[in-house]
Amino acid sequence: MKSRFAGLRENGWSAPPPDQPSDDLLAVRDIFKYFSFGPSVPWAKKRTIRAVDGVSFRIAQQETLGLVGESGCGKTTTARMILGLLAPDAGEIRFLGSEIGRRGPAKRRDRGRIQAVFQDPWSSLDPRMRVGDAIAEPLVVNTRLRGQQLRDRIAGLLDAVGLGPGAARNYPHEFSGGQRQRIAIARALSLNPDLIVLDEPVSALDVSIRAQIMNLLKDLQQEMRLSYLLIAHDLATVRYLTDSVGVMYLGKLAELAPTTDLFARPAHPYTLALIDAASAEVRDRPPIVLSGDIPSPADPPSGCRFHTRCWLYEQLGRPKICRTEQPPMTEVLPNHASACHFASDAMHPPTRAAVAGTSPSAATRAAAASVVGPGTAGAVMPVAPSRPLRI
Ligand code: SF4
Repeated sequence: MKSRFAGLRENGWSAPPPDQPSDDLLAVRDIFKYFSFGPSVPWAKKRTIRAVDGVSFRIAQQETLGLVGESGCGKTTTARMILGLLAPDAGEIRFLGSEIGRRGPAKRRDRGRIQAVFQDPWSSLDPRMRVGDAIAEPLVVNTRLRGQQLRDRIAGLLDAVGLGPGAARNYPHEFSGGQRQRIAIARALSLNPDLIVLDEPVSALDVSIRAQIMNLLKDLQQEMRLSYLLIAHDLATVRYLTDSVGVMYLGKLAELAPTTDLFARPAHPYTLALIDAASAEVRDRPPIVLSGDIPSPADPPSGCRFHTRCWLYEQLGRPKICRTEQPPMTEVLPNHASACHFASDAMHPPTRAAVAGTSPSAATRAAAASVVGPGTAGAVMPVAPSRPLRI
């Protein structure tokens, strides 16, 4: 029987061999996760949701990587595989050089070193458990701390997140949303993790509380030499907290870059649209507005998955390559990769004046000409595949 993953690795991605030495804390290489659903009626076909479809990235010590994208793009499924809540169908997840994606001794050993803080602190804490007991639980299961040593450790953790040791005697309902998130962070810190997966850690909080929690996370990162994987919708949070950002669309990475580069020079049309949607900044070009909904991951579009909503595809006159060839992740600037056949056009969107004076495709052609140099005016050039990004 033909494998569900046959041909899926032919996406231009060049992952290093598994035994290559690396100083990364976490290396995610070409992971896939598909979910199959049986038909609701006997004559219907089985459906397969391609939740994560060949994603690779790395997180260094004390680095924060953000994963952004619309709901259903696969960022939470990726985080769940890193946390060990789901096993990848293919690919590998290495933590300090050991494979943890599949069950095994390394996975058990490293379990305590990767922790999570979820979006809703209310549902991540047991309402019938005192705060001290909730923080003690992982310590009792995984360490030999007992008695006064255990109580001291709990008091230290509560102190580290800005709550007094007296908070250990209270129940979660006696705290505000921000305080409950501090308790969830204290519990995540209890086993001295190296990596914390932050799944929308401030989006359920009042705006006035968000800054406090973000600053707390930054301070803890400095003091405890933590690395974070931040899953978020809110680009302002991502911009403030992260060192680098991966933009996901329909189970794939569209762009991966250092945060300052990504916001200063987005190299994928989808990233540009996300930034425009989140910003009220006045620019010398019209804002990019995406139309339509994200397609079903059970039936993703052919070629570039974004082509059904891509403004650049329309402006370039619907080039065939976008419908037929999946763009590989290609390094367009140092450490800045984009999965777009026309990344250099995306980095130079037409100005407001150009759009007013010419047709949209001509404006983009003018921008493309300014990138590719003299003698090519009027030609729409795909970005030269400089070299595949190595992860
Ligand atoms: Fe748009 Fe084509 Fe680039 Fe995909 S490859 S993002 S459709 S321009």
